[in-house]
Amino acid sequence: MWKNGLIQSLKDPSLQVISSDIAVVIKDKYPKAKYHFLVLPKEDISSIFKLTRDHLPVLDELRLLATNVIEVSGEKEKNFKIGFHAIPSMTRLHLHVISKDFISPCLKTKKHWNSFTTKLFIDYDKLYEELEKTGSVKRIESTEAKDLENSPLKCNHCSFEAKTIPSLKDHLLSHLK
Ligand code: AMP
Ligand code: ZN
Repeated sequence: MWKNGLIQSLKDPSLQVISSDIAVVIKDKYPKAKYHFLVLPKEDISSIFKLTRDHLPVLDELRLLATNVIEVSGEKEKNFKIGFHAIPSMTRLHLHVISKDFISPCLKTKKHWNSFTTKLFIDYDKLYEELEKTGSVKRIESTEAKDLENSPLKCNHCSFEAKTIPSLKDHLLSHLK
């Protein structure tokens, strides 16, 4: 099933960027920025909604590999977003490590954009804190999720609001140093 694509990729050594005993980093097959990695645990944890406090050490390891892969790419960590989709589509827990340029032909829809730039993206630290405090990760309300998916195309670097994806993409180029 398409939902299991990450599990297939995880097992393909040619797709692994770095790994440890606990987790693996792969390149996202449809990268939404110049750099887009996914960090997956080897343990069969299907999603953020299956996490308990017992998994905090696994999350620590995912975060460590995120730092490592950014280092290997020769980039600065401040230029990356590190976190989870509030509504994951693929199974096996995966941490997104994505560069903030968001310049990629695979970024095609409003839903793509808003999934990384609104509350539909949960920063690692925020999710970690929620799990530590409450022992689980709460699902976002479906009405709120729909609103967020359809919210205006706000630039992630400045106050610009684009009317269309092509104009957003043009605008993003202006932020490249
Ligand atoms: P999510 O919305 O958090 O479930 O994100 C799933 C991510 O997996 C997306 O960024 C996809 O581009 C990516 N993806 C889909 N299929 C594959 C695959 N077979 N191998 C690697 N990455 C994939
Ligand atoms: Zn801007």
